[in-house]
Amino acid sequence: MTTPLTEEQVRELKEDLVALQAALTEALNLKKDSAKTVELDQQLMGRLSRMDALQQQEMAKAGKAVQQRRLRLTDQALRAIDDETYGECRECGESIAFKRLKVSPEAPFCVECQASKEV
Ligand SMILES: [Zn+2]
Repeated sequence: MTTPLTEEQVRELKEDLVALQAALTEALNLKKDSAKTVELDQQLMGRLSRMDALQQQEMAKAGKAVQQRRLRLTDQALRAIDDETYGECRECGESIAFKRLKVSPEAPFCVECQASKEV
């Protein structure tokens, strides 16, 4: 059994979430620009380097998907704070450990449920 978060801990994690939200939003905006650059430069490149550029774009897209997912979870976590359900596992309802939330404040599941999803 994990002890529920104290008000103080929720306040601290909310600050982390707001900072994370800002950082992710900024990173996603930057990514948009770098994707544009690849398109513009394509005409200047030979066939091989164009393939490289496309590959890089694919990787950037994959990274972007991860960040978008994280941003969604961050938004949900901030809403959960308003609803006073933050820190409860959305799967089993157990409290999520403060230590875990300090690493990923947007985590919607406890360690056990997260692990069972990743198998
Ligand atoms: Zn759980």
